[in-house]
Amino acid sequence: MGKANIITIDDNNFTFNSDDTILSVAQRNNIDIPTLCHLKNTTPTGTCNICMVEIKGSPDLVTACTTATSAGMQVYTASKKVINSRRDTIKSMLYSGNHNCAIRDFDTKDWTEFQLKVLDEDKTDDLCPVWGNCELQDLAYRYQVTTRKEPIPECKYPTERANPFIIRDFSRCILCGRCVKACREVQVNNAIDFGYNKSNSKEITKIIAGNDVTLRDSDCVFCGECVQVCPVGALITEKTFEKQKFIKLEKTRTTCSYCGVGCQMDVYTQNNKIIDIQGADNELPPNNGSLCVKGRFAFDFVASPERLTTPLIKKNGTFEESTWDEALELVASRLNSIKNESGPDSQGVLTSARITNEENYIAQKFARAVLKTNNIDHCARL
Ligand code: SF4
Ligand code: SF4
Ligand code: SF4
Repeated sequence: MGKANIITIDDNNFTFNSDDTILSVAQRNNIDIPTLCHLKNTTPTGTCNICMVEIKGSPDLVTACTTATSAGMQVYTASKKVINSRRDTIKSMLYSGNHNCAIRDFDTKDWTEFQLKVLDEDKTDDLCPVWGNCELQDLAYRYQVTTRKEPIPECKYPTERANPFIIRDFSRCILCGRCVKACREVQVNNAIDFGYNKSNSKEITKIIAGNDVTLRDSDCVFCGECVQVCPVGALITEKTFEKQKFIKLEKTRTTCSYCGVGCQMDVYTQNNKIIDIQGADNELPPNNGSLCVKGRFAFDFVASPERLTTPLIKKNGTFEESTWDEALELVASRLNSIKNESGPDSQGVLTSARITNEENYIAQKFARAVLKTNNIDHCARL
């Protein structure tokens, strides 16, 4: 490889491809350039200005996410000018909305120590629902930018709670546009967009659904992709409020059981209760980080008090609770007697898209090896 496709980032050489931006080369080589608007596998927006970097010989900083690489380019990701720019941008974001989190009070450079201090002072009730899980807050802490002490100005747009899934808190929206990218380019639903452009009207820019209606009355299908990518507390769910701050969520990687696609998901639990479900890693097939409305939101059944936890056997016309051993013995003996009376092909097994491939495999093994029949089918063909 010649010098024609080499750039320097923080004095180290890296090769680039013709469609690379500075950010893509940096990310590929594990160089940390923070960003709040960039969303992997979508076209860049360049709205947040956090990813500013310095190019040798250029008087102005440039956004790494939108600047194409060119041979011999020398990029600096953490110069004094870059850091000052990031601090100014973070400050202006914090001041632009309801970002009253306790970072205004921090007096320690240790994040954990700071969290414990807030907990000791019992201020947690007043804290933002995403406190401790917010990319803007992380950056504010990292660059030691404090928020205002004076009261937050009232937001022109009231919080929307018109649907059971997604709460839209416009007072915390930083207009990064990630939700729009996720809706348009990842899910291809085109339900939301930037509205009320400042240059055309006196209105303040807002992410709108349809003609500025509620999500419930728009083309939104409640896939929740926008919630997953929102870097702050502008898009949240009811469950976010139930979460206990400072108690770490436990993450379990698993397969969605709603259909046969086999989407990979991360289930977040706290005190053995599901708080959140997110699409796993956006490089992981088959769903590449996306989920549908069922996989993402329909998990209340797991802890539902109406869920059957013991088997029921019908005795004298009514269902009575039994033990698993009693239920399994009853099923095995009935299957046996039917097979003996009418032959193996008098029985059949229907499996389900609600279970995993492995469980479906076991079911067909059970039909063929135990019941001795090839009568095995799947609900997807009904
Ligand atoms: S959205 Fe983030 S930065 Fe804003 S108040 Fe909440 S935690 Fe703080
Ligand atoms: S929930 Fe899905 S369809 Fe609705 S606005 Fe968000 S990304 Fe678009
Ligand atoms: S709702 Fe969230 S993702 Fe969408 S523009 Fe606002 S801050 Fe960004």
